[in-house]
Amino acid sequence: MNTLNINKQADIIGNYQVTVCGGGPSGFIAAIAAARCGASVALIERYGYLGGMATAGMVAPISEFMHEGELISSGIPLEFVKRIDGGKMCSPRGNFVFHPEEYKIAAQRMVFEAGVDLYLHAYVTDCVMDDGKITHIVFESKSGTQAIATDYVIDATGDGDIAYKAGVPMQNYNTPLQPATMYFALNKVDTSGFKGYYPGQKHSSIPEIREMLSKLCPDAPQMGGPWCFAGMGEGTAIINMSRTALDWLDEKAATKAECKLREDIKTIVHLLKTHIPAFKNAELLMSAPQVGIRETRHIKGTHILTGDEYVNAVHFEDSVARCSHPIDIHSTNDNTQTVTPLKQAAYLPYRSIIADGYNNLLVPSRCFSADREAFASARVQVGVMGLGQAAGVAAAQCAEKHLSVHNADIKKLRKVLADWGMKI
Ligand SMILES: Cc1cc2nc3c(=O)[nH]c(=O)nc-3n(C[C@H](O)[C@H](O)[C@H](O)COP(=O)(O)OP(=O)(O)OC[C@H]3O[C@@H](n4cnc5c(N)ncnc54)[C@H](O)[C@@H]3O)c2cc1C
Repeated sequence: MNTLNINKQADIIGNYQVTVCGGGPSGFIAAIAAARCGASVALIERYGYLGGMATAGMVAPISEFMHEGELISSGIPLEFVKRIDGGKMCSPRGNFVFHPEEYKIAAQRMVFEAGVDLYLHAYVTDCVMDDGKITHIVFESKSGTQAIATDYVIDATGDGDIAYKAGVPMQNYNTPLQPATMYFALNKVDTSGFKGYYPGQKHSSIPEIREMLSKLCPDAPQMGGPWCFAGMGEGTAIINMSRTALDWLDEKAATKAECKLREDIKTIVHLLKTHIPAFKNAELLMSAPQVGIRETRHIKGTHILTGDEYVNAVHFEDSVARCSHPIDIHSTNDNTQTVTPLKQAAYLPYRSIIADGYNNLLVPSRCFSADREAFASARVQVGVMGLGQAAGVAAAQCAEKHLSVHNADIKKLRKVLADWGMKI
């Protein structure tokens, strides 16, 4: 391939103790946590709103705040969901359903209240390193190429964009990536018989629908679930059903998948209307602004959290977050899914969000350091929000004393998290 060398100058427009790249569930929670602990914080997000997959991907349940009815995660994530107008917590697993627009509003309100400087429409493209430390974050916007000088970086891009640029080693699972899904919303749905995430009803997918459609229409696109969510109100359903293999880091493949999945939604909606009585009068309200990405890079952190540690709920001295979502692996090649429920909520260690040799970088988003099984559970929002919260507190505490993230005072970190109600 031909290449082109491009030399660019960036205006340095700010100087912060903590810079958070990516405003998804892990990122905006991290920014709030760091700011509440007294750090000056920048939060940089490529879209015009916060929430990441929860809003851009319309992934409208947050899983799961409880294990068998007992609250296992609280702190800023729980405070956040209480701020989402119209959202509902479903027992006994504590899945929280919401309207994506309300999520955006609640997130930006809390970010501003904490005193975070928010940079929207800003695509982080690079970082500058000096002696094991990232000194600057570089991003592109309509204003051109700009940079922020920073003491600590939280990579919450989901894809580990900064970690990758900084040269953090990545894991290779040697298994296919979990598939991508494009959510869509319908109205005029008869939801009275649903077992989905509707208040007072059991948490479950509706596999009968998928099985019936697959039998009736062997040419139907690949499908999962379907899971139907009530967040947009009575008679509406936000639906997780489409599915395709995708390497999101390959631009050509990403373009193809976005277009294919929108066509698939058209087909799926037609099938639902034709064959499933509850959807007879349904109308397509919207597809998600972007395809939902379950999995891309995984950093090789100081500790790689294993599936064994996870299912056995091994407690770590540096445990900073909990997660009780099942080990949930969606097949890339067909309509199946492997779900292994947890007997106890798992513990997530701080060492899984830092990497050897990187002194001011924390990576709490879904690309944190875990093996395939542990990832397949901890990737959900309560898991990464918990890690984001811990990353924010740790970054602020390290900033106060100019410490490497490897020398963070774990007792002090855990104390703040416990004081905030985390059962770690
Ligand atoms: C189909 C699907 C179904 C799911 N189901 C559930 C479920 O039922 N329950 C649940 O809790 N979770 C579920 N999840 C998982 C959950 O949504 C994600 O794992 C979670 O959103 C990850 O949060 P994050 O902050 O790590 O990353 P993301 O949500 O991906 O957020 C990353 C943020 O960074 C921004 N960003 C990325 N790159 C850059 C860049 N270079 N510069 C600037 N900004 C950037 C993005 O725009 C985004 O806002 C599902 C995910 C998918 C895709």
